[in-house]
Amino acid sequence: MTLKSNTHEGIGMTSQRTRDRLISRLRDRGICNPQVLHALRVTPRHLFVDEALASRAYEDTALPIGHKQTISQPYVVACMTEAVLQGGTPKKVLEVGTGSGYQAAVLSGLVEQVYTVERIEALYQQARKRAMQLGLRNIRFKLSDGSWGWESYAPYDAVVVTAAPDEIPAALVDQLADNGRLVIPVGESSGAQELLLLRKTGTRVEQESLGSVSFVPLVQGNVYT
Ligand code: SAH
Repeated sequence: MTLKSNTHEGIGMTSQRTRDRLISRLRDRGICNPQVLHALRVTPRHLFVDEALASRAYEDTALPIGHKQTISQPYVVACMTEAVLQGGTPKKVLEVGTGSGYQAAVLSGLVEQVYTVERIEALYQQARKRAMQLGLRNIRFKLSDGSWGWESYAPYDAVVVTAAPDEIPAALVDQLADNGRLVIPVGESSGAQELLLLRKTGTRVEQESLGSVSFVPLVQGNVYT
């Protein structure tokens, strides 16, 4: 008898049926972009968390990933991804806050090239390894303070920030292409944060609120090795 490895496909609490239940829930909560729903359906979230938490990977909740960080709640990932795709599919997307690499993996199925920056070396290494194992070749990783953006590949059609600063870092707006979009949670870590969508047209920047959220803080100024 041969044992087939099906970690990617998942069994039991990580099976396609369990994943489909999550997708129905996201649809019920108002996520309607079919491309986004498909990307979440095919991204194996259980491979982005510790094995001990794999059975909870398709619950609609944030989960710990070590180093006091979390993998975002699927609903929030879906909302942010919808906001990124609003008004046309971007080619180049910068993500600040790689964490587990899940949001980057979801984006990699939807856009041409993803650039992602993380400040904690262990998370950066692990996310890179995961992407390689899953054959996600259109993600570039960088260990750095992402509040500076990633100048060498700018401008970006969209920038997604998955950690909350008190104020929007100017570099992220500067590195947006014309008609580019920035999706970012802003506010104090202990208080209420607001998810903002900024649109840049020429020198004008319009801002819209997408609702209240809770993210880990964007830590500026150094890299943790
Ligand atoms: N997008 C992630 C969510 C991770 S939580 C996922 O899908 O799993 C936010 C991440 O932002 C954490 O890993 C944290 O270390 C990182 N972070 C915080 N401040 C940062 C900064 N200034 N630059 C880059 N990454 C940062």
